[in-house]
Amino acid sequence: MTPFDPVLDALDAHHPVRARVRAALAELVLPHADEWERARRIPEQGWRALGDAGLLGMPLSGDGFTDSAILLEELGRTGYAGIRAGVAVHAFMAAHYLDRFGTPEQRAELLADVRAGTRVAALALSEPDAGTDLAAITTRAEPDGSGGYRLTGHKAHVANGSQAGFYVCLARLRTVAARPRSLAGCGFLLVDADAPGVRATPEPMLGWHSADVCEVTFDAVPVPADRVLGNPARTLTYLVESLDFERLAAGLLAAGGAAHCLDLLDGFVRGHHVGGAPLSANQVVRHTTADLAAELDLVRSYAHLAALRHARGRLDTRTASTLKLRATELAANAARACLQYHGARGYREGSAVARVHRDAAAGTITAGANELLRDLVFDTAAPS
Ligand SMILES: Cc1cc2nc3c(=O)[nH]c(=O)nc-3n(C[C@H](O)[C@H](O)[C@H](O)COP(=O)(O)OP(=O)(O)OC[C@H]3O[C@@H](n4cnc5c(N)ncnc54)[C@H](O)[C@@H]3O)c2cc1C
Repeated sequence: MTPFDPVLDALDAHHPVRARVRAALAELVLPHADEWERARRIPEQGWRALGDAGLLGMPLSGDGFTDSAILLEELGRTGYAGIRAGVAVHAFMAAHYLDRFGTPEQRAELLADVRAGTRVAALALSEPDAGTDLAAITTRAEPDGSGGYRLTGHKAHVANGSQAGFYVCLARLRTVAARPRSLAGCGFLLVDADAPGVRATPEPMLGWHSADVCEVTFDAVPVPADRVLGNPARTLTYLVESLDFERLAAGLLAAGGAAHCLDLLDGFVRGHHVGGAPLSANQVVRHTTADLAAELDLVRSYAHLAALRHARGRLDTRTASTLKLRATELAANAARACLQYHGARGYREGSAVARVHRDAAAGTITAGANELLRDLVFDTAAPS
């Protein structure tokens, strides 16, 4: 019998985890997706259904992460980037901070609810004047005298913002030696969304409609000592590791998004006739489609390699940055070709092609703008 190969088998469309996840998303997400887009959020029962199906508690590390990589790709393949972002921020990107750096008590309390879909997680790092440059954050936490803090500041572009049960928040802690315009002196706090002084205001975006993106204001919010996450002296290390993980997840989601887009494109150019012949009878159309399909094969293979590296505890900044950079740019290029070859029917408000096009534009900005990722690729050596 051929031994199980996590990289090759993960590529297989008939992999049992892929079949199970795809069927679950087809049942639990796709019938409701347009309604969630209109509501600009995943509703409570949607979160619970995903939790009941085990899709919010898949492994964040270790060998089981290859199954999670399949889920992330399949979330991308739904063609709804807002839904994929909401779920991924909740079950992967924010959950990762808790899983890696939380105390056993924090993990037991909060991760159990995240997995069940009963408490939504959000990540509050960015601010109106601090996105790429997180060292410029001004949200500050004043000691309250009992080991806890009072948190004051303004966070921007927070996915799952209005329905979050808690935020993983980056802030300047006034108890730690600080250096101006540096992450020294910053730390992570777990902020309960129902604490006094928390206010979330929707920040409607061009795309990613179901992602519930919000501005979140903290006005002297009490944060008890047991809600400090990890050791603030290690904030930079936590952030680098977590951003690498976030970029791995974003790359897998975007690879799935690009695959969905190519399915739309390929089906259309073969079936749509102009001047009595299918569009694909034109060499330029065939070659554009083939170039995108070939690039997708390469990006998917690299995505699976990156997932495997993470599963083995060997994900590095160069690999995560390269994947996120290439996968999101492929998704944007595929969306542009898809719109062009669909003609006016793809430009119709509410069409799947229009949604893919506006959603893909966010991929090259979020989880680290792609210019920053190019700098990181330039500055780091390829893993040997
Ligand atoms: C849909 C969406 C969802 C988001 N969700 C979250 C979330 O849940 N939590 C959260 O904390 N944040 C979230 N963000 C914020 C996201 O992380 C930031 O948008 C991103 O880090 C870029 O920061 P910025 O938008 O402030 O752009 P800036 O840092 O102001 O940069 C503006 C632009 O300048 C260019 N640029 C930046 N650096 C360089 C460089 N070195 N060289 C050349 N050009 C450069 C890039 O093109 C960039 O887009 C979200 C954003 C979007 C759009």
